[in-house]
Amino acid sequence: MNNQLDRCPICGERGVSVPYKTVTRIVNQDARKLVAEDNYFLCMDSRCDVGYFNSEKETIDKSMFKRPIWFKRGAEQRIGNEEWRNSGSNSDGNT
Ligand SMILES: [Zn+2]
Repeated sequence: MNNQLDRCPICGERGVSVPYKTVTRIVNQDARKLVAEDNYFLCMDSRCDVGYFNSEKETIDKSMFKRPIWFKRGAEQRIGNEEWRNSGSNSDGNT
């Protein structure tokens, strides 16, 4: 009885249902144009670049949020706003 609709198309993690209206409030203006009137889900995987996705598998990148998502990688360090936006593939180790 796995409902595939609520799984992130990128990472496969389950998303949390988010009302469409909330989505439009949280994303920036550019992203708002992309937001369809649909059910959205919030991807909870901290390593995934997807912020929201919908049942059409359309995704809204976490960088399109007005503010960093707290649980996403990099956002925990509130200081480095630009750091995480520019972050490439491996910002893992602290050496
Ligand atoms: Zn994801």
